[in-house]
Amino acid sequence: MSLHAQAVATDRKLIVSFHDLHPGSRAQCERFLAMLRGLGVARATLLVVPRWHGASPCNEDLEFAAWLRGLAAEGHEICLHAYLHRADAVTGNAVQRAMGRHYTAGEGEFYQIDQAEAAIRLREGLRIVAEGCGVPVWGFTAPAWLLSEGGRAALVALGFHYTTRWGQVELLQPGQELGNGVPSGDCSQASMASGVESSPDRVQARSYDGTQIPARRIPAPTLVWSTRAAWRRVCSRGWVRLWGALKRRSTVLRVAVHPVDFAYPSIEASVRAAIARNLRGRAAACYRDLLPAGTPPLGGAT
Ligand SMILES: [Zn+2]
Repeated sequence: MSLHAQAVATDRKLIVSFHDLHPGSRAQCERFLAMLRGLGVARATLLVVPRWHGASPCNEDLEFAAWLRGLAAEGHEICLHAYLHRADAVTGNAVQRAMGRHYTAGEGEFYQIDQAEAAIRLREGLRIVAEGCGVPVWGFTAPAWLLSEGGRAALVALGFHYTTRWGQVELLQPGQELGNGVPSGDCSQASMASGVESSPDRVQARSYDGTQIPARRIPAPTLVWSTRAAWRRVCSRGWVRLWGALKRRSTVLRVAVHPVDFAYPSIEASVRAAIARNLRGRAAACYRDLLPAGTPPLGGAT
């Protein structure tokens, strides 16, 4: 292996995240963190919902807030994830309604939101999680990665540093093109399409349809399981193995876990195997590791 190849290999990151964390899913998260400890993973990103389905603000559970602070102090990252994680009625054409209802099981809170409403929910979410729980927050993830243009504009205006999407992490603030340890414009998805190995000095790369991908969008394929039906559980175990193999050259690869995954031993085993398999040649990382070194959080404790 050449020196250049070695440098690229050690830059490769595996971002492991736990979605839908709130006081009611703490037990599953603790189980997940124990799994990570067993695998030697010390850094994960925990996606916290400030008021899960309209419940009391999570910072009012003082034990939960203290537990979160402890995890942040250990090196885990807290990411804001929705506000209620429940959408009002989805409107629009048949495709939009189907996306809202079936794909997200009615939880696409930021799928059709306008900027003003998004700003209200984001500010309140930050007040609860960053200030209330006392943990630093750098970014936001929309439920099922469905984010409206208005929602994105609100994130930029409020100073959020990143948002995550299906297959990508988007850095939102100016000057963040030079992320920490991730080659700007590295586009492994483009590599898959074009057959050209990604190179750290390429500023832009081509997407599947030949258009240019801005350097601020870091390709980050996601391994995620679907548990809603038995056939989905069987298929997703195979799909995760296949997708991870197809995306093995990506500089950033992600594993996204949900509380319900821990209701099925076969899925839990698949999660463990996928993390172990994809840690080979990669360092466990958080989303904030994609930002320039020293990027401050939006608020709360540091
Ligand atoms: Zn979620």
